[in-house]
Amino acid sequence: MDRRLFLKTSALGGAAVAASSIIPACATGSSKNGKKKVETVPLNLSFQEGIAPGETLAEKLDFMENLGVVGFEPGGRGLKGRVKEIQDALKGRNIKVSAICAGFDGFILSEDPAIKNAFDTTMREIVEAAGALGSTGVIMVPAFNGQQPCKPHTMETRDYLCEELHKLGEFAKSCGTTVILEPLNRKECFYMRLVADGAAIARDANSDGVKVMGDFWHMQEETSDYGAFMSAGKKYLQHVHMASRGNRRMPGEDGALDNYVEGFKALQQLGYDKYVSFECGCGGDRATLVTNAVNLLRAQWEEAQA
Ligand code: MG
Repeated sequence: MDRRLFLKTSALGGAAVAASSIIPACATGSSKNGKKKVETVPLNLSFQEGIAPGETLAEKLDFMENLGVVGFEPGGRGLKGRVKEIQDALKGRNIKVSAICAGFDGFILSEDPAIKNAFDTTMREIVEAAGALGSTGVIMVPAFNGQQPCKPHTMETRDYLCEELHKLGEFAKSCGTTVILEPLNRKECFYMRLVADGAAIARDANSDGVKVMGDFWHMQEETSDYGAFMSAGKKYLQHVHMASRGNRRMPGEDGALDNYVEGFKALQQLGYDKYVSFECGCGGDRATLVTNAVNLLRAQWEEAQA
């Protein structure tokens, strides 16, 4: 661009800025003083199937809707046979399927071809159903500590995992969904216990269909909730699990331990637009404790905006 053209475009840019300042703030996203207004990020809460009180799925969804919960996370087992049931149950409600929690047979790092094959078959069946339900993805762990026979945790195995995840991710993408790696803690999965571990594997799988999540319960392994989510970034972070931080019950049941503000700050700064989904037990009256938990999280989400 030559200097004259540059000056001309700059002048036009200046005029455009001047004009925008007289348009009402609500139309431009700018505040009165001309500073760019920070968009508020909504807290999209989701429940796994066992969280809300109720005998039937409809009763549970009624309870969730009354609380303003907008996501539903069913388990993956038998999902293929439940697609219509879930679609019908959600019809006319302001609730969508958030993620699908595991439910496959076998595991991806098994050394036994029959077990690996069982994983491939059942996982792909769940991924297809997840796509039909509009889910953000299907949650998986490559191998729990105790699962045998497992490939040894070596560099070669990591390469193998990334190659296998690439294939699975591309399949998920073709179904309109993703696979979501869930880092756990050292007692359950020593080789993938930080959100950054999972995010790096997702990156190296080199498929837009492979993502990662953070679970506030397992994230006790992290040195920083904020840093953990930031390490995944918006590109890889696809889901969040929520629980109290002492006994994995309803948020609030463990008192002062249940502080999610730093993590929430990261989610807001990332413009995280997926779900924060309850995966936890309950130590008392379910209706009361679930309601209290939702109120606590909304208060902390607001605190994180400050
Ligand atoms: Mg979890």
